[in-house]
Amino acid sequence: MSLIQLNGVSRRYKTEGFEVTALDNVSLSIDKGEFVAIMGQSGSGKSTLMNILGCLDTPSEGVYRIHGQSVSSLNPDQLSALRLKTFGFVFQRYQLLSSLNATENVALPAIYSGTSSEDRTQKAQQLLDKLGLSSRKEHKPGELSGGQQQRVSVARALINGAEVILADEPTGALDSASGEQLLALLRELHAEGVTIILITHDSAVAEHADRQIHLLDGKIVTDTKTAAPSTSESVEKNAASVQHVHSQEPTPVPAIKPFPSISLFSALSMAFTALRMNWFRTLLTLLGIIIGVAAVVTMMAIGEGGKQQVLERIETIGTNLISIRPGGRNMRSSGDIASLTLADATALKSVPGVAYVAPERSARATIRYSENDFSGRITGTTPDYFHAKDWEMAQGVFFSDEDVTNYAPVVVIGDTVAETLFEDKYRAVGEYILMQNAFYQVVGVLHSKGASAGGNDMDDEVLIPVTTGRLKVFGRDYLSSITIKAESTEVATQVKDDVLALLVERHGQEDVMVRTTESLVEAVTETQDTLTWLLASVAAISLFVGGIGVMNIMLVNVSERKREIGLRIATGAKPRDILRQFNIEAWVVCILGGIFGILLGYFVVLIVASFSVPVAYTLMPPVLAFVTSLAVGLIFGYAPAQKASKLNPIDALAEE
Ligand code: ADP
Ligand code: MG
Repeated sequence: MSLIQLNGVSRRYKTEGFEVTALDNVSLSIDKGEFVAIMGQSGSGKSTLMNILGCLDTPSEGVYRIHGQSVSSLNPDQLSALRLKTFGFVFQRYQLLSSLNATENVALPAIYSGTSSEDRTQKAQQLLDKLGLSSRKEHKPGELSGGQQQRVSVARALINGAEVILADEPTGALDSASGEQLLALLRELHAEGVTIILITHDSAVAEHADRQIHLLDGKIVTDTKTAAPSTSESVEKNAASVQHVHSQEPTPVPAIKPFPSISLFSALSMAFTALRMNWFRTLLTLLGIIIGVAAVVTMMAIGEGGKQQVLERIETIGTNLISIRPGGRNMRSSGDIASLTLADATALKSVPGVAYVAPERSARATIRYSENDFSGRITGTTPDYFHAKDWEMAQGVFFSDEDVTNYAPVVVIGDTVAETLFEDKYRAVGEYILMQNAFYQVVGVLHSKGASAGGNDMDDEVLIPVTTGRLKVFGRDYLSSITIKAESTEVATQVKDDVLALLVERHGQEDVMVRTTESLVEAVTETQDTLTWLLASVAAISLFVGGIGVMNIMLVNVSERKREIGLRIATGAKPRDILRQFNIEAWVVCILGGIFGILLGYFVVLIVASFSVPVAYTLMPPVLAFVTSLAVGLIFGYAPAQKASKLNPIDALAEE
């Protein structure tokens, strides 16, 4: 079976309405170990033929078989495998990557055959030694002569153990001495059993081959052998012999296995190399992402800080306060409904999330000290009242639980009350006041709170133990209300529900109303939502700007590196490998940008905080920013990577 067999192959190009037939019904077979020169004038179809042979292009008509297997039946990954393993290209203009040194250039195709980095380097160096370039291993292409560069490219063609070397005018750009050297090298490889197919328009070059094929206007005009083939397999050619081979065909065709995709590590290291090559551009791209991410982090820290400050303020007024009043939905709302008891208050202490339970029973009364009177609301309660309402003592102490248990005749008064009753309010503590024919000792004066948001004086409190009040002032056992302070605003709603459930259970009916300071909580939620909205827009804008930057740079990258992409595909990279490489480049930029952006963001937050702007460090902004920048990489890097992987290697390599 012939190694290569073309049967009636044509290749037509359609350009702007008219058609060019670059190859016209070409039938040809080449055996393993042949050295073939393809000759012809410019435009005769030599390169077209070469591209078809090397699986960079497909015939418009006819069948191309490799090892008896029709190429048209292979999928793109199998074609890549053929380019990788079976063929090695040598181009007229070398097509070395200028950013890589000789060893790295030679090793390039081995990345796609899954060879480990060490093995690649070792193999590449062996080949360079063999090709007389021992002293040039670390040199970049720019530091090598044309002849040396071409030998590097031959080494590259050989690294995956190519069976066939396809060389399109390999001596075209070389001086005659270098050309001779290269031809000697090709002859040597041929002697080792490598099949060589060489394009030339120079008959002196063609002399080195064992067989010369002349093309004219896409047709084979002559096909002559000048030396005996070096393999035992006889050379059969032309259309007639094709028939013959067909009859032999039951020979099993070895399946062409696609190579696995390049490892993440290889892709990463390629990405870093590429990004380092253009470090200034990388830096500018990074800057876009960094600024965007830093903006998100800073804005969110400030927003979060503001939110927490507002929440804290509300908490001091008491959004975590829950008020319970007697009366149900279908009852008349009045303080005289006998449903709340002190026992209820005690039971409510065990509800989870409850911090303080302050029972209240109030009535209007007049109190007197010496000649001074104060008329107002007298409230019977417990020490929890002090905590639930966030009072502070100006003088003395609040009455204790013991006072409540002992029915103690003690009173705590507000600032206004102290001022009304006493000439010198700072001497109130220890004095006795008169209320409904009984004396009460003043044990404490509350710190002034001033006027409430509604303009009411909040310092007109007269507080006595609830037990004492029940006995001497109110006469009845029922409470006018219970105020509960929840442990935090977050649990307030839950506590409210639990409290109601417990009271309904205790009373056997819903005869109480339980409320949180809902209007305030609603206001906070609204503020919070507005802030979240604002921050989300900032995040979206920064995502967009950063993403456009990444996409722009990646597109520039792809068009600038067309030759590199073409070369990678020609030497066996699968389109998916190219896709992965360029995607990962975008990801690397975005991930680095994300990390540096978060750092910069926190730095700015520190500065802002030093101007006593409230900030809050939470995990959400950096996570959000990072995920955002990663998403930017994924989304905006995809289109350029897709474009790269879809490049036609022939056009890409023609790019100068
Ligand atoms: P050679 O390598 O022998 O100089 P080519 O194989 O490059 O010749 O080209 C053969 C013919 O096909 C020429 O007429 C050329 O203009 C035409 N041709 C080659 N490539 C293309 C293409 N991509 N689009 C249109 N015409 C093409
Ligand atoms: Mg050509």
